Amino acid sequence: MTTISRRKLLERGVQISVGGAIIAATGTAAAAEQKVCADPKAMDGGQKSIRMSLNYVEVHTDQNQACGKCGFFTPDAANVGCGQCMIFTGPANAKGHCDSWAPKG
Ligand code: SF4
Repeated sequence: MTTISRRKLLERGVQISVGGAIIAATGTAAAAEQKVCADPKAMDGGQKSIRMSLNYVEVHTDQNQACGKCGFFTPDAANVGCGQCMIFTGPANAKGHCDSWAPKG
């Protein structure tokens, strides 16, 4: 039978606590990166419909063609990472994208 000393038990407890804190911090960072600016559940049928027809996504794989670099996007100073889209006349995520993307002039 293996016995663990009290000291070893305490050391492992500290290791688990530190590991848990790192995981929690990483989770928070990931959540911040995936900020939702345009929640379809909170939108009326017209807003949902136009976003679906233009294939709007909150986070685009090509950040060179993200809303933040689109000529129709205006950043929201009070809500960093979000802004307003002129095409949708509503919110959009700076990391988002739709088929109407056009580079800033
Ligand atoms: S037109 Fe499309 S890509 Fe441009 S800001 Fe609006 S949602 Fe984003």
